[in-house]
Amino acid sequence: MSAVVIEGAHVATVSGAEYPDGHVVAVDGRITAVGAGPAPDAPAGARRIDGRGHLLTPGLVNSHNHLYQWATQGLFADATLFEWLVGSYDIWHRLDAEVVAGTTTAGTAWLALSGCTTVSDHHYIFPAGRGDIVAAEVEAARRVGVRLDLARGSMDRGRSSGGLPPDAVVETLDGALAGTSAAIDAHHDPAFDAMTRVAVAPCSPFSVSRELMTGAAELARSRGVRLHTHLAETVDEEEQCRAEFGCTPAEYAEKLGWLGEDVWLAHAVHLSDAAIARIAATGTGIAHCPTSNARLGAGICRTTELLAAGVPVGLGVDGPASSELSGVVGEIHQAVLMARARKGPQALSARQALHMATLGGARCLGRADELGAIAPGRLADLALWRVDGFGHGVVDDPVVALAFGPPPPLELLLVGGSPVVERGELRTVSSGEAARAGRAAHTRLLQEVDR
Ligand SMILES: [Zn+2]
Repeated sequence: MSAVVIEGAHVATVSGAEYPDGHVVAVDGRITAVGAGPAPDAPAGARRIDGRGHLLTPGLVNSHNHLYQWATQGLFADATLFEWLVGSYDIWHRLDAEVVAGTTTAGTAWLALSGCTTVSDHHYIFPAGRGDIVAAEVEAARRVGVRLDLARGSMDRGRSSGGLPPDAVVETLDGALAGTSAAIDAHHDPAFDAMTRVAVAPCSPFSVSRELMTGAAELARSRGVRLHTHLAETVDEEEQCRAEFGCTPAEYAEKLGWLGEDVWLAHAVHLSDAAIARIAATGTGIAHCPTSNARLGAGICRTTELLAAGVPVGLGVDGPASSELSGVVGEIHQAVLMARARKGPQALSARQALHMATLGGARCLGRADELGAIAPGRLADLALWRVDGFGHGVVDDPVVALAFGPPPPLELLLVGGSPVVERGELRTVSSGEAARAGRAAHTRLLQEVDR
C-alpha cells in the first residue's frame, strides 16, 4: 500500500466545498478522504505533507494541445490562422517519430511543471515513412508521467484538393481511418485509471473530406472512443464553410453527426446563439484556448454564454506554435481576463475558470468520474501550489491568487498518487533533459526541412 496525507492546505475540491484548512488522503492512487481540519484516520506509514500556506487543487486538465509544435515556436508571429498554417505546414511535413519523441518529452514536462496531470494532444501530421509517431508520443508521455489523451488526427485534403497542407503531409481516406483504428488497437485503455486513451480526431472540416468526417464518427462510435476536431476558430473559416457547404461550421458539424455527448470541439470562437443552443442540447464539449485565439487574432470565445447554457467547457493551451505560454494555469488567467474584457467583471469568476481547467476539461475527455475534482473514489491527481510567497502572499483568497496572479510555485504534483513534480522540479525526467529533448527536436526538424 502507498498512502499520502496532505494537511493544512486550502483544499479547492472543485466539485463541492472548499476547506480553508483541510486534508486529503490518497491510498494506492485514489482519493479516500477529504474534509476540514487534520485527517482523522491517516493510514499508518503514509507520507505526510504539510500543506500550510498552499492551495490544493485537482491536477489541471489540458483539453487541447499539439505537442509537436514545441519545435516551431515563435514563427509567423504576425500571421492570421490560415497564413500561419500554410507557412507552418511547409515545416511540419518533415516531422518524424524522433522529433515527436522530443517534443512530447519537452511539452509534457513543461505542462507537468505548470500543474497539469492530463494532456489531450491532437496530433494530425503523419507524413509517410517517418516512423511510428503515435508510439513515440505514447512512450515519451509515459516517461514524463502524465496521463495522455491522444486525439489521433488526420487530414486528407492536400493543396491539390483545395486544402491548406501540402499533399505530402495528408493521408488517404482509407489510410487515415486505418491508422486511427490501429492507434486505438495499440494504445487505447478504457480502464478507470488509464494513463493512455485514444480519441478519433480529424484535423478540421476545412482540411478533411466529408467522407473522412463521417467515417471518423462511425469509427469512433463503433469502438466506443471519443471524437475531437477544431471548429469555428476564425471568421475566415466560417466564410470558407458558407461558400463551400452553404452553412456555418456548427451546422456542418451537426449534419455530419459531429455534435453529441461523445464530441468535444476546440476553439468554437464564432458561434451564434442558435449554435450555442444546439451545442448545449447535444452535450457537446468545448476546449477553450484563449491565448492561442488572441495570439492569432481569431476572436474571443463566448464562454459566459456557453457556461450559462450548460455546455461542458475545458481549457486548452493549443499548440506551442500559437501559444508560446503553454501552461494551463496561464490559460486560467487568460480565460478570466478575456471573458471580462468582452462582457464585464461578472463574466467569469476565478472559480469558474478553475472549474474549466479541471472538471470542465475532464468532462470534455469523458473522464468526469475519474479526474478533475477532489472527492473520495477519484484518482489522486493533485496539484499543491505555494500561495504564501512573494507573488501571492498578500492575496487572502488563494483561488483568486491562482487565477489573477502569476503562476504560483508548484510544490507537489501527484499523478495517481505518485509524485511527478516536487518543489518545482520534475521527479521523472529532469528539466534539463526535457529542455534538451525539445531543443534537439527543433534542430532536427529544421535540418530536415533544409535537406
Ligand atoms: Zn489546435
